[in-house]
Amino acid sequence: MGTEDAVGRLCIAVDGPAAAGKSTVARLLAERLGYRYADTGAMYRALALKALRLGIDLHDPVALEELAATTSIAVESAEGRTLTLLDGRDVSEEIRSPEVSRAVSYVAMVPGVRRQMVRMQRALAAGGGIVMEGRDVGTVVLPGADCKFFLTASPKERTLRRYRELLAKGYQVELAELEAEMTLRDRLDSERTTDPLVPADDAAIVDTTGRKVEEVVEDLLERCRGVSGRH
Ligand code: C5P
Repeated sequence: MGTEDAVGRLCIAVDGPAAAGKSTVARLLAERLGYRYADTGAMYRALALKALRLGIDLHDPVALEELAATTSIAVESAEGRTLTLLDGRDVSEEIRSPEVSRAVSYVAMVPGVRRQMVRMQRALAAGGGIVMEGRDVGTVVLPGADCKFFLTASPKERTLRRYRELLAKGYQVELAELEAEMTLRDRLDSERTTDPLVPADDAAIVDTTGRKVEEVVEDLLERCRGVSGRH
């Protein structure tokens, strides 16, 4: 697939709940446009991983904020591969573990943690030409983004997608347990006081249920071309 030279250096926000298809779609969209891809969820996951390793209380906001201030987190994407570095070490695999998934929303609800993450994410997006994926990219990180998408899918499809992903990585998970965990995570993300998971007023809501990835990517690309034409 070639890149789309016709689309300038836009900032594109892709938000939505867990396993709505954001990562796959955002990564492919970035590839098609020749843009950088940034996964903001990976940054929260990396911090959660460090908190778990150090045995930090997930309900201690002061300790978590301090941890964020003394931790270096970088997300990089190159040649179709995305890397998450925690204090310089590659943790791309570990951050996808069920343990980290269970812990991450507690880390992400701390306002002081979010402030630091948002600062780093805005710096990453400077210069444009980026597809940034997360929960609050269109509302908080890049409210002025050129294109905003909010991806959704039925709860059943989201659970099945995550279930298959985890099995493929060799994790043993119970479907019912996973469903309960994902419901809790979405609830914590949506109901938190700071930067909750909500679509931006100007985001296009895209339901990916039953749709092929390529078809969703084409749909988003088409909408980005429309925006680019107005620049
Ligand atoms: O996208 P992913 O499922 O990897 O995100 C993991 C968690 O990180 C989310 O459940 C949420 O708690 C947090 N997150 C966030 N804000 C973002 C991205 C992720 O709070 N922009």
